[in-house]
Amino acid sequence: MAELEIFTQLATYDHEQIVFCNDNATGLKAIIAIHNTVLGPGLGGTRIWNYSNEAEAINDVMRLSRGMTYKAAISGLNLGGAKAVIIGDASKIKTEALMRKFGRFVENLNGKYITAEDVNTTTKDMEYVNMETDHVVGLPESMGGGGDPSPVTAYGVYMGMKASAKHVFGNDSLSGKKIAVQGIGKVGGHLLDYLHKEGAKLYISDINANVLSHYASSMGATVVTGDDIYSLDMDIFAPCAMGAILNTENIAKLKCAIVAGAANNQLADETVHGPALMERGITYAPDFLINAGGLINVYQEHIGYNKETAIRKAEHIFDVTAEILNISATEKIYTQKAAMNLAEKRINDVLKLQSTY
Ligand code: NAD
Repeated sequence: MAELEIFTQLATYDHEQIVFCNDNATGLKAIIAIHNTVLGPGLGGTRIWNYSNEAEAINDVMRLSRGMTYKAAISGLNLGGAKAVIIGDASKIKTEALMRKFGRFVENLNGKYITAEDVNTTTKDMEYVNMETDHVVGLPESMGGGGDPSPVTAYGVYMGMKASAKHVFGNDSLSGKKIAVQGIGKVGGHLLDYLHKEGAKLYISDINANVLSHYASSMGATVVTGDDIYSLDMDIFAPCAMGAILNTENIAKLKCAIVAGAANNQLADETVHGPALMERGITYAPDFLINAGGLINVYQEHIGYNKETAIRKAEHIFDVTAEILNISATEKIYTQKAAMNLAEKRINDVLKLQSTY
């Protein structure tokens, strides 16, 4: 068996802490990774996934927790980056007892980690977690929470897309622009509403045929099948399904001027595919910047929920995207790098505050 070398992995991206949680009685096997808490408590959702081995789970939670640090920092939130994974098939392992036990482990971290929903966890699961700890967000509106964050995420993506359009085409209007949305789920659906209202010409793809026929008839969107979406003659491509779709093969096919979507970790390898998009003259709106609306929404819940404030803060994604695209053009660095630099600068600036109590 290959060695896990946990401390080497922690040191690679400077993670603070990793917590392994085991409970035989409920079958809970969870990993909480806290990447960086300079700006505040580490906030990140809990994902339930049937990983093929433990190394894969550790890798995932470490990569995702680091992403949360950047997302919070660039969004100006007083939050650090963290994430949790629960190992197993959600349809088989998820019970009230398992989620509450997980809540107790979260409670034991005394607020250094705040959890929320993610892939295969729901607001209902967070209600169970909340029975054991207050360090949880993403609760239903009936419990004083912010409910589903997807509409705010979609609004932020829309703002990032408009800022990109202004940078590339000279104005932020999306009217008449050919826009292809991959993945018409919770975020993609709300994004389509904004784009349709503005008069964009829409192309859609999803593995769920029912969703496609609904939007084709209600918005006149053109349905695209499978990988054909990459080579479509379009102005803007909005990946809103899975990560890692911006790989060497797909980037070579792209005919768009802008990539701006909600999916997390769109660049298969940021150091290879960030520059590759730049070389092809395609403007990439960094995913962790423009999809931060959901995090902005749950942060608002953490400090006292108010929907208007969450939307107003998500609107600011327009200005930050414009700033990043300008830095990228001036400094001739790929956009993801420009965004990471700005996030790191904020963390380092705040570190300086701590030199005086
Ligand atoms: P979702 O599960 O509601 O929707 C995803 C959609 O993508 C589904 O309709 C699914 O059928 C479709 N899909 C899956 N595989 C596909 C494929 N190969 N081709 C085309 N479509 C495919 O998820 P969501 O909440 O809308 O999130 C979408 C993306 O945005 C995810 O990557 C998620 O991590 C990211 N994100 C979401 C939020 C949020 O607030 N929901 C916040 C930040 C980032």
